[in-house]
Amino acid sequence: MKKKNVFSGIQPSGRLHIGNYVGAMRNMIDLQDEYFCIYGIVDYHAMTVRFDPEEMTKSIFNCTIDYLAAGIDPEKSILMLQSTVSEHTELAWVLNTITPIAWLTRVPTFKEKQQDNPNYLNMGLLDYPVLMAADIILYKAEVVPVGEDQLPHLELTREIVRRFNSYFGETFPEPKEKLGAVKKILGLDGVNKMSKSLDNCIYLDETKEEIWKKLSTAVTDTRRKRRADPGNPEDCNIFTMHKAFSKKEDIDYCARECRHAGIGCLDCKKILLDNIVAELKPIQARRQELLKKKDYIYEVLHDGTIRAKKIAHKTMDEVYERIGIKLYHNAGQNKLS
Ligand code: ADP
Repeated sequence: MKKKNVFSGIQPSGRLHIGNYVGAMRNMIDLQDEYFCIYGIVDYHAMTVRFDPEEMTKSIFNCTIDYLAAGIDPEKSILMLQSTVSEHTELAWVLNTITPIAWLTRVPTFKEKQQDNPNYLNMGLLDYPVLMAADIILYKAEVVPVGEDQLPHLELTREIVRRFNSYFGETFPEPKEKLGAVKKILGLDGVNKMSKSLDNCIYLDETKEEIWKKLSTAVTDTRRKRRADPGNPEDCNIFTMHKAFSKKEDIDYCARECRHAGIGCLDCKKILLDNIVAELKPIQARRQELLKKKDYIYEVLHDGTIRAKKIAHKTMDEVYERIGIKLYHNAGQNKLS
């Protein structure tokens, strides 16, 4: 039986952090055997905020390495750079024409970005979810591994799919999200989502010392004022991180001992540190190896473009047929009579 398709993307807007890893990447890695996976480094999305072109070049390279080091296997899955498959923006335009503006202005991430970047409100920010819908349905993906913050975008994708199918005939499946076991990790501030755009991350390539420097000062349960106070693991971002990285014994131990002040926050953080480092160590070792293979990285992306384009071209052919312009796209082959 033909495998179902999966699509997911990560923006090359900085180094990957443990939120990306836990929220999306682990599932992206795990799904590779059961599904046919297409993974994108979504550079067009990263252009919706001010960016430095030189940094963009570097970030794309580093993001590719991070994907491969974490366990994305280009023999099994397609790994490609979004802007090299022009069908993403071609389909986004078609979808733009059937998406009411009101659907986009109500998206929570747009409202947040509007507040964060009042001086850089560009069309791309508003249109971001339409491009994301195009990214997914271009490959007729049925499953999308993402973190919780992406749920409104997935819902919008389904609405756009329903509208396209009802206007032009059944063409696209409605994609479903695949959330990580831990859906959202907050940043070191314990308030905001851990995010590349905020300086509140633990990055996949950090050393044990660097991670400890951050973890040791990270915000915990704010109700626990002193070491002697009992804590509330359910209100602590460090405990959420334990759930993402630690073995059951450690999770149970930290929850139990925190609740009666048997351990302090620093003790709990030290256990977490060891568990994060244990998981990141092999990824970092592979990363070091990949850094020596520059040509291989370009080859992977080039191969990904070629393979993704084949699928994308087929879908666009179908879309052009549905919307009545295919004849003109094939004008060179078919006589226009
Ligand atoms: P960022 O928000 O850091 O710029 P992206 O937008 O590129 O990251 O997100 C890539 C993937 O990582 C998405 O599926 C997103 O849901 C997931 N993700 C990002 N931050 C977190 C987080 N703090 N917790 C869980 N998942 C996250």
